[in-house]
Amino acid sequence: MKYVSTRGTAPELTFEDAMMTGLARDGGLYVPDVIPTLSHDDIAEMAGQSYEEIAFTVMRPFIGDTFTDDEFRDLIEAAYAGFNHAARAPLKQLDSNHFLLELFHGPTLAFKDFAMQLIGQMFQASLTRSGKRITIVGATSGDTGSAAIEAFRGLDNVDVFILFPHGRVSEVQRRQMTTPVESNVHALAMDGDFDDCQAALKDMFNDFEFRDGVNLAGVNSINWGRVLAQVVYYFSSAVSLGAPHRKVSFTVPTGNFGDIFAGYIAKRMGLPIDQLVIATNQNDILHRTLETGAQVKEGVTPSISPSMDIQVSSNFERALFEAYERDGAVVAEQMDELKDKGEFTISQGAIDMLRDTFASGRASEDETYATIKTELMLSGELLCPHSAVGVTVAGDHLGETPMITLATAHPAKFPAAVEKATGQHPDLPPHMADLFERDERVTRVPSDLDALQTLIKERIQN
Ligand SMILES: *Cc1c(COP(=O)(O)O)cnc(C)c1O
Repeated sequence: MKYVSTRGTAPELTFEDAMMTGLARDGGLYVPDVIPTLSHDDIAEMAGQSYEEIAFTVMRPFIGDTFTDDEFRDLIEAAYAGFNHAARAPLKQLDSNHFLLELFHGPTLAFKDFAMQLIGQMFQASLTRSGKRITIVGATSGDTGSAAIEAFRGLDNVDVFILFPHGRVSEVQRRQMTTPVESNVHALAMDGDFDDCQAALKDMFNDFEFRDGVNLAGVNSINWGRVLAQVVYYFSSAVSLGAPHRKVSFTVPTGNFGDIFAGYIAKRMGLPIDQLVIATNQNDILHRTLETGAQVKEGVTPSISPSMDIQVSSNFERALFEAYERDGAVVAEQMDELKDKGEFTISQGAIDMLRDTFASGRASEDETYATIKTELMLSGELLCPHSAVGVTVAGDHLGETPMITLATAHPAKFPAAVEKATGQHPDLPPHMADLFERDERVTRVPSDLDALQTLIKERIQN
């Protein structure tokens, strides 16, 4: 299995190198050169299997000879051993034909743990083998950072730097990033919003001298390893509702298009998915793109679902690559336009493909509060604001086919919004109960590439 860039000119890589590299050298994102498929029987066999067994079957065809079967099984076991639910990704029923996929039972209470815990294991195995040392720099709207720090803290051959927008993450998110005591963890509070953090990160990757000098590795949602790990729970949940004999639909709260793209891969692999619904908050660039056929950047308006407060949706490039029948040159042109003019128009053929593949909707702040409140009354489920965006949008797409909405974070990660909606204060689980008593360690940084690079070089020499 080889990996190719969505912009068509970066060298082809193995799974291992694509995973360690993150962003391709032509600015594109790595994708497998062919998407493997599972047969009806392969999927039928997953009925009754553990999450880990399903994970092995789904991901094995993508990893080539990076790991042996036994190694890969062990890495999967280790990745999910720290989860607080035996099922890893349990399904809850909300209504006769509407289900909630709880993806928040990992160590940092958001779905990011599913991918980050696994790539933490895979990075460590690969680095131990090669003896290399790497510098991970990540940009986060909150949850990626805490999940990355949790997965990489204390590892010998890794320094991890996380850029988050100062003042724009929840207190629980910030404390999860600033309280780990390990010296290889560096939390950086940057001036600006998440898109500024993401832009600074991209600039670091495009500065090859810096990139090679510090052995830069990326773990943002553009990392193929992360997308791959997220494909698994589409299979596990669909199978528990009767796939492959019965179709299911999914609604996915998304901003950076990572999670929903994993659903698209599951469908391409042969999972019978009917609708794939994109749910956005008031920062609705993805919904507008599908409606109008043009992607037009506007300002970000901070919302109660901050992990989706985004106008530059990185993984959308992967969908665009498929929509343009894998023509990297066209994708590169459109991405240049976006960078230069803040917008681009998708061709008729490509937008038709995207509209056939994805539905979309948006939830306002008021609708999101209302859903948190009514869902608690109707089903007893306390939703985080992101999950509530999903449940709101799913409401417009319910039908004969069972709908699974992804619950992307635990309500206790966003207590202020949940309390405002319901009057109930969601408690942190016991393993995090003392989070507000721990000491914080954070560096304020300007939105300035030189300053960031200097700081990183200084820190990794110590
Ligand atoms: C990251 C995140 C999202 C959005 O994920 P995408 O990568 O944009 O699909 C949604 N909800 C929560 C809680 C998140 O942490």
